Amino acid sequence: MKFQPVIGLEVHTQLKTGSKIFCGCSTTFGSEPNSQTCPVCLGLPGALPVLNKKVVEFAIKAGLATNCIIAHHSVFARKNYFYPDLPKGYQISQLEEPICRKGWLDIQLEGQEAKRIGITRIHMEEDAGKLVHGDVPGLDDGSGVDLNRACTPLLEVVSEPDLRSSDEAVAYLKRLHRIVTWLGICDGNMEEGSFRCDANISVMPVGSDTLGTRAEIKNVNSFKFVKQAIDYEIQRQIALIEDGGSVVQETRLFDPNSGTTRSMRSKEEAHDYRYFPDPDLVPLVIDADWVQHAHKELPELPEHRRQRFITELGLPEYDAEVLTASRGVADYFEECVAFHHNAKAVSNWLMSEVTRALNDSGAAIDACPVIPSQLAELIKMIDKGAISGKIAKTVFEEMWKNGGEPQAIVEKRGLAQVSDSGAIEAIIDEVIAANMAQVEEFRGGKEKVLGFFVGLVMKASRGKANPALVNELLLAKLKVQ
Ligand SMILES: [Zn+2]
Repeated sequence: MKFQPVIGLEVHTQLKTGSKIFCGCSTTFGSEPNSQTCPVCLGLPGALPVLNKKVVEFAIKAGLATNCIIAHHSVFARKNYFYPDLPKGYQISQLEEPICRKGWLDIQLEGQEAKRIGITRIHMEEDAGKLVHGDVPGLDDGSGVDLNRACTPLLEVVSEPDLRSSDEAVAYLKRLHRIVTWLGICDGNMEEGSFRCDANISVMPVGSDTLGTRAEIKNVNSFKFVKQAIDYEIQRQIALIEDGGSVVQETRLFDPNSGTTRSMRSKEEAHDYRYFPDPDLVPLVIDADWVQHAHKELPELPEHRRQRFITELGLPEYDAEVLTASRGVADYFEECVAFHHNAKAVSNWLMSEVTRALNDSGAAIDACPVIPSQLAELIKMIDKGAISGKIAKTVFEEMWKNGGEPQAIVEKRGLAQVSDSGAIEAIIDEVIAANMAQVEEFRGGKEKVLGFFVGLVMKASRGKANPALVNELLLAKLKVQ
């Protein structure tokens, strides 16, 4: 029997607000434990939450960018459970009336048609604190509770079970990750847990329309681990069923060291949490003006921009995809093109020299020492024939290290391309005179020797001779008997 996996993802994105969702405490990561707390996020009796307006703005933007309906009326609910990192005994979340519903994102795997993945809902909630085991100041060997993270704003984005493979799941996650970072509402840092995902996975016989029992894998925080965890889980469930067993509904943990998942606890249902509307928070009402305002503030979205790079600027699909991987790169690219309209040349430089230099230095594109107008000017000089592509790389390195305008560097270091045929002919004559044996070979029909001569002339000109002219003049001289 052949099996078909069915996958749905729940993604937690931590919002990049300065303060927490229901109090004014800072959300800065990595501070002294419990230094960013107050009666509200400590869950002290009588303390009342006040909703952070920025969180709502960010949620609306996320909803608009993922084609969701923004609810006019939404409600915060208490999700009740006990854990030491949750002093209130409940988490404030949303259940029946979330802020966004019924959205979608398109994904595309290489060589396949685009596929639409439904988004069931997006809701706002607070994060819990965290337990720290060992290495706790003041305790020799114990566990401590750090509530700095308690009350940090999260958006939970829940997909429909539309995904059919780990590759589709990763493609969806990457699209979503690009959107939230593009909007500037999440820093996207997966290692610090700012973007993490739970995967619901089941398998069913191909052709069946009855979903199998699903297992949930909790808190996976890298694209690579998501793929590994899903692939492992699919194989585990298939093997289990083929052995005559059945899948149990449960929550499982992925272990990156072994690449396997293991059971953590039996899966709870919504009713286990005794959800009820939070009496401390009034229902949230969002009027059309607010949504419209958020709409106006939205930047051009990555998918739209990608299409425009293809249709307006004539870029190949591959280039358009790479250049819209982040908003910073797309902005940099368009600024360059505004200065010099050779989009493909700018794209080539960005994807090769600039990317390499950024990777080597660990800098982000916003901190690129060569600014767009300078890169554009450099490419313009190549296009005009003022310098060769090879010399341009030397100029680029100089700009990267010491700054300066390309024109000035070329002048100062005498790198301008030599297109004076008299000067080039003089070099050619010398080279020919010194290599008569090779000249005879060429004249004897061994045309490959031409490359040898071009190399020598370019070297003698220290890379500055115009290569097209060198070829032309060399051929003329070599052919003359
Ligand atoms: Zn607080």
